Amino acid sequence: MPAKLIKGDKVAAHLYEEMAAELKDIYEDTGLMPGLAVIIVGEDPASLSYVTNIEKRSKQLGFDVVVHRLTVDVSEGDLLQLIDELNYNDDVHGIMVQLPLPEHINPHVVQETVDPEKDVDGAHPINMGKLFSDEKGYIPSTVHSVMQMIEFTRQPLYGKKAVLIGRSNIVGKPLSLLMLRRNASLTICHSYTEDLPEICREADVLIAATGKPGFVKEDWVKPGAIVIDVGVSQVDGKLVGDVDFAAVKNTAGWISPVPGGVGPITITMLKWSTLEAFKKSIAAG
Ligand code: NAP
Repeated sequence: MPAKLIKGDKVAAHLYEEMAAELKDIYEDTGLMPGLAVIIVGEDPASLSYVTNIEKRSKQLGFDVVVHRLTVDVSEGDLLQLIDELNYNDDVHGIMVQLPLPEHINPHVVQETVDPEKDVDGAHPINMGKLFSDEKGYIPSTVHSVMQMIEFTRQPLYGKKAVLIGRSNIVGKPLSLLMLRRNASLTICHSYTEDLPEICREADVLIAATGKPGFVKEDWVKPGAIVIDVGVSQVDGKLVGDVDFAAVKNTAGWISPVPGGVGPITITMLKWSTLEAFKKSIAAG
């Protein structure tokens, strides 16, 4: 039997409705809208398309979203100054800086400049530290959406064998902490891992975040497993994931497509965190 599809829009639908209702109530009471500032530097096509989608989808839901499109030669100082202004702007509740940044800009310095209370994509070391120590803070939207997808399957995660391919700061590492929080027995793999297909075959939950198109093959997948594909690459002008979807869907129990999987929920989770920041700011007066 072919795998059940974990479609991003379907997973995000109830979150969207919940947020729309909350926003309506808050707007009727206060006349205020959540403000989201997105900063993009340069013309990376995948980043531009992601940011345009954030802009469109956030406006649809009633967010006041402003995209700051900076040229690739912007200085680090000018970028930090913009972030500082946004930190002090009371109409801005969330700030997201799209990566990658050009080589002359240090991403760590940039992420540390964003006010942790407005760091709705969980990139600031304070929010990363909170994730590490199981405290409430903002978590990266991508990993938040992977957890929503697993929840959507209604399959318990505790005690299950989970394999995560990828250990980056924005996907693999934070995701590993959330999986542990949910009591999965986790194996983290990377480019030095030996016998990767064999390790993957053990997985009840297999998550691929490598950026290698079609990397995960059908015979790497345990029958009935949940397979989540975080990878996004462009091949011949088309978006493709890390998983050989056409073949793996015949073996997996659940599978997320690319496009239409993690991507759409990621934007929803970014709005979710911005709404949280907005509500905190209202509560603080
Ligand atoms: P990254 O920083 O390049 O990390 C890739 C990871 O994959 C690294 O840990 C790397 O291992 C591992 N890897 C590479 N080749 C491998 C191999 N042959 N065998 C095993 N592991 C291998 O990428 P990222 O930022 O985490 O992003 C990963 C993918 O997710 C990309 O396609 C990106 O576009 C996508 N993404 C999607 C979203 C979304 O919302 N849909 C958001 C963020 C990222 P080493 O550490 O040993 O190098």
